[in-house]
Amino acid sequence: MSDPGPAATAAPKAWTSVLPRGQAGRALGLHAIRALLAACVLAGVGAQGAQGAQGAARAGLCEQGLRQSPIDIVAPLRRPLPSLQFDYHAAPLRLVHDGHTVRVRFANRSQLVVGRQRYTLQQFHFHLPGGDRIAGEEFAMGMHFTHKSPSGQLMTLVLLFRVGQENPALAALLPHLSAPGQPEHTVAHQTVDAAAWLPAQRGYYVYDGSLTGPPCTEGVRWLVMKQPLQLSAAQLALLKSLIPANARPVQPLNGRPILESE
Ligand SMILES: [Zn+2]
Repeated sequence: MSDPGPAATAAPKAWTSVLPRGQAGRALGLHAIRALLAACVLAGVGAQGAQGAQGAARAGLCEQGLRQSPIDIVAPLRRPLPSLQFDYHAAPLRLVHDGHTVRVRFANRSQLVVGRQRYTLQQFHFHLPGGDRIAGEEFAMGMHFTHKSPSGQLMTLVLLFRVGQENPALAALLPHLSAPGQPEHTVAHQTVDAAAWLPAQRGYYVYDGSLTGPPCTEGVRWLVMKQPLQLSAAQLALLKSLIPANARPVQPLNGRPILESE
């Protein structure tokens, strides 16, 4: 799996597009980051109107994009990638079922640092089945932890689950998962810590991907944790009673390199 093979020569150049932008991140002071955040908020407001006009063109990415997610992770190239530093904290449990999945939302305190790039956790949600595959294996369930850097770079951290032992983090959350149609709400006296979901081993794969639903925007960094987690058959059945099958099929790789941490 880790044999670089003939494609290895192309990897360093391609990897520059998924490398954390360390120089830019290091140059930014706190004031600059705050200004960037403010600019992102303003840009978001301004972009609302443009979305309608560009909607048709963006929807085309779902059918014609060349860097789409999820994928089947095959023949990854082993590289000295930056370690993942999880700076996640317990937060009030705030969630919503949008009919497609259950999303647990976070305020700005939980962050993931990759190299010199800091990403803020926005939310996590569930996929049945898992979405990304590893060497052809389809997983029973997947979780996407969506993050955003101060400059607006999107990053999705993927956890994949096989059926096996009961998952304690899921056991704590399941009683609070809402049914479709309920408004987004905060569960009283209940916290959630994203760190509780993480596997013990912090090895990962990384590739350039996309949003998995329309408009399938590309340029999203995908980090897939190598160590699969487990959930029990009963937990999976309960999730299936709450969430429809909602995973997008795997998409063509189109020559993209997949890197694997050492
Ligand atoms: Zn997702």
